[in-house]
Parts: sequence; C-alpha cells; structure tokens
Amino acid sequence: MVSHSDLGPVIVTGGSRGIGAATVRALVALGRPVVFSYASNDAAATALCDGLGRQVRALKADAGDPATPARLFDLCATEFSPATGLFANAGITGPASKITDLALDDLRRVIETNLIGVFLSAQEGARRMGSGSAMVLMSSRAAELGGGGEWVHYAASKGAINAMTKGLARELGPKGIRVNAVAPGLIDTEIHAAAGLGDRLAQKRGDVPLGRIGTADEVAETVTWLLSDRAAYVSGTIVDIGGGR
Ligand code: NAP
Repeated sequence: MVSHSDLGPVIVTGGSRGIGAATVRALVALGRPVVFSYASNDAAATALCDGLGRQVRALKADAGDPATPARLFDLCATEFSPATGLFANAGITGPASKITDLALDDLRRVIETNLIGVFLSAQEGARRMGSGSAMVLMSSRAAELGGGGEWVHYAASKGAINAMTKGLARELGPKGIRVNAVAPGLIDTEIHAAAGLGDRLAQKRGDVPLGRIGTADEVAETVTWLLSDRAAYVSGTIVDIGGGR
C-alpha cells in the first residue's frame, strides 16, 4: 500500500468553500499537494491558502470554461508534479424553482457548471493522467431522488454524472485510471442558502434515517479514500453519503 504522501498531487474544482474546501484540507493533512479552482470568492480562497501553506495553490477559473481544465493541470505540473488525482466537485443548484418557472439562463448555467464543467475536467484528466490515477466526480442524492418541487434541473445535471461515472470507469479502466462518484445527501454548506432555501436543512432533517445533517468533512473522508490506494479495486461506483436517505 502506497502512503497518501507518495500518491502525488490532486486537482479539486470548486475548492474554496464547502465540501471542496474540506477535501482540500483533508488531502493536505494527508500529505498530498492540491491545486484548487474557485469561481469568484477571493476572500474564501485566500483564507484557505493562508491556513495551509506551500502545499496548496488556488486558481480563479470558471468550471464551465473550456480553457479551465488545461490551466489547472498545467499549474499542478508546474508547481508540484503531474496530477494523479482529480476531484471534479464544482457545482451549483441554481435558484430553487419549479420547472414552470425556471429561466433558460439558469438551466444553462447549472448544466454548464455541473455537467459540462465536470465532463471537461474528466476529459482533460483522461488525456493527462496515467496508470494508478483516480478521479472522483461530484454527484448528489438528488440524481435518484429527482429534486421535484425544488430543482429538477439540478437533479438532471447530477444524473448525468452517474452515467458518466459508469462509462468512464469502463473506458479508462484499461489505462489504469479509476473513476468513482460521491452522492452526498443533506450536507451543511452554504449551497442551500445560495439557492434561496436558508431553512432547507432544518426542514428536511426529519427525512434522514440517521436523524441529522451531514458535514463537509464526512464527505471529504470518502473522497480522500476513493482517491487513495486503499480504494485500489474500487471503480465505477457511486458512493451515497446521505445518512440512509
Ligand atoms: P458551496 O459551499 O456553495 O461551495 C461551492 C464551491 O464551488 C465554491 O468553492 C465555489 O467557488 C465553487 N464554484 C461554484 N461554481 C463554480 C464555477 N462555475 N467554477 C469554479 N468553481 C465554482 O457548495 P457545496 O455544498 O460544497 O457543493 C459542492 C458540490 O457538492 C456541488 O457540486 C454540489 O452540487 C454537491 N453537493 C452538495 C450537497 C450539499 O448538501 N451541500 C449535496 C449533494 C451534492 P466560490 O467560493 O468562488 O463561489
């Protein structure tokens, strides 16, 4: 078993806040250098870097921009060494909305970030990463629950991630690249308030068999495992992290 610190650097998209930031912290604590991207919140990205020192680099780059993945992989190779791990995490819900009220621009933005952004990251990873590397794609329990009444658009974007995970695991397995996804349920981050549903977690807590909301650190725990050698025979799997919901 190779130790975490010998496994090489990881690229994390959307790493400045929430689940991405928890994963950046967890990877650095394990000795893996990290390059992360973020969209606009400079203060959050700077604060994260300040706390982690020389093992982390940040790049302000939109996940949906086709130029972003190459910039991330280049930065990682220049500052550390070629990436051996990718966590394609950047995502948004768009505004909570029934389908009858959803604006086309909001639908496009969600698909561009959650589906095209993850696809382009995985595509660049497939071109650049070698045997022994691993990708984790960010899905959601919404992919199976459907998001009805809140965000079917978001659920649809995450359903595509599940399909992509299965297909890429088959396509890239012969190259020695593992591909898995995580599907978190109700996790305590700012994403719910950003959608205009500040009380969502409190309202939904009763739906969770384990009786509580999950934490970003609990998701990061699974992601770091999937990116590590300890999951060497795990590929094509979507790991639910939803407290049984
Ligand atoms: P969050 O707290 O809102 O953090 C989102 C992160 O993604 C931030 O670092 C943000 O950067 C970045 N980001 C957003 N749009 C981006 C873009 N276009 N390009 C680059 N970076 C971008 O969200 P979170 O809850 O941690 O969610 C992270 C992922 O987990 C998402 O894909 C989400 O769908 C998924 N997820 C979350 C939950 C949950 O309950 N929280 C459940 C299931 C799945 P800035 O700081 O610059 O805005």
